[in-house]
Amino acid sequence: MKRRTRLVHPRRSVPEGFRSLAVPVYRGSTTLFPRAAAVRDTWDHDQAAYTYGAYGTPTTVELADRIAELEGAHRTFVTPGGQAALTLVYLACCSAGDHVLVPANVYGPSRDFADRVLRRFGVDVEYYAPLDLDALAARLRPATRLVWCESPGSLTMEIQDVPAIAAAAHAAGALVALDNTYAAGVLFDAFAHGVDLSIQALTKYAGGHSDLLLGTVSVRDEALYRRVGPVLQDLGCSVSPDDCSLALRGLQTLDVRLAAIGASALEVARWFAGRDDVESVRHPALESCPGHAVWRRDFSGAAGLFSVLFRPPWTRAALHQALDRLTLFGLGYSWGGVTSLAVTPGFAGRDDGGRFGDRLVRFSIGLEDPGDLVADLDRAFRR
Ligand SMILES: *Cc1c(COP(=O)(O)O)cnc(C)c1O
Repeated sequence: MKRRTRLVHPRRSVPEGFRSLAVPVYRGSTTLFPRAAAVRDTWDHDQAAYTYGAYGTPTTVELADRIAELEGAHRTFVTPGGQAALTLVYLACCSAGDHVLVPANVYGPSRDFADRVLRRFGVDVEYYAPLDLDALAARLRPATRLVWCESPGSLTMEIQDVPAIAAAAHAAGALVALDNTYAAGVLFDAFAHGVDLSIQALTKYAGGHSDLLLGTVSVRDEALYRRVGPVLQDLGCSVSPDDCSLALRGLQTLDVRLAAIGASALEVARWFAGRDDVESVRHPALESCPGHAVWRRDFSGAAGLFSVLFRPPWTRAALHQALDRLTLFGLGYSWGGVTSLAVTPGFAGRDDGGRFGDRLVRFSIGLEDPGDLVADLDRAFRR
């Protein structure tokens, strides 16, 4: 054989039997089959373990299994990001003519997808006040297919009564999906509280180092597994085994990172709560957070995310100047890494009456020493 052929079909092979503590990174589009008749194409790992790289390699399936175990789910699908996990749930559950209820404080891009895409395909999207159970119950109707929860809600941090929402939704024949990113599959047991589909952005705490984008959809039962799987295949939502390998590494330290981050964040939040220029600190473990009593009942701890609503005369411009004086906090979106971050979020599309947008700062606390963070904040927010 000529060199060209030998480069593709080498004669020598490396010794077998290597074992590492780390999950190997299996890359691959093509999956080889033992015989021509065995070749097939399906997302369903129960039917045929591996048929095409898009539906997973042992690395991605390992990550899916570990998230399923962590969340107590029947099965888990890995997606290219948290947003892809959200849209997969919408697309798997909703058809033209269906009605979907979404909390008004939901993660902005979820709202954008519902408004810009779902509506175009004839899905009736309606928003509900996240803490008003009666108003939610009044909006449930026979066409309601899906009720979303997000707890705490993005930016404004309301804790929802998920068990009560799930009971009402199920009585009306609707499925309940939860954006469980904050709790990282650790601080809130979605399935024990009645949720049918739980999504996470692994980008945040599972990844934990701000260097990857991944998400998951975890499902309660086999029927939902069979509903979501084919849609994932049809959408072509494939993930990189390299990113999955980083998430697998992150998962090993998830619990200890969350514990350290949670303790620091509470310390920093309490420092803000003691300032007289602060109207309220929206940290789930503080009484000033809307839905705090539900957090105490349903959660096993708090993560590193909270928002601070400053009093007038603080303005958005003055807050920007203060944030620019910070030296330990990065300014930017996403969260859950080792570096503390701050943003003054936009509230486009939200019915907040202009209340929050100007004077709310969202903080994500990382793994720095909390005393150093407070000292940095104290310098920056001194007027
Ligand atoms: C970041 C985030 C997402 C989206 O995750 P990506 O991986 O960035 O797509 C979804 N929901 C919540 C609550 C988030 O914070």
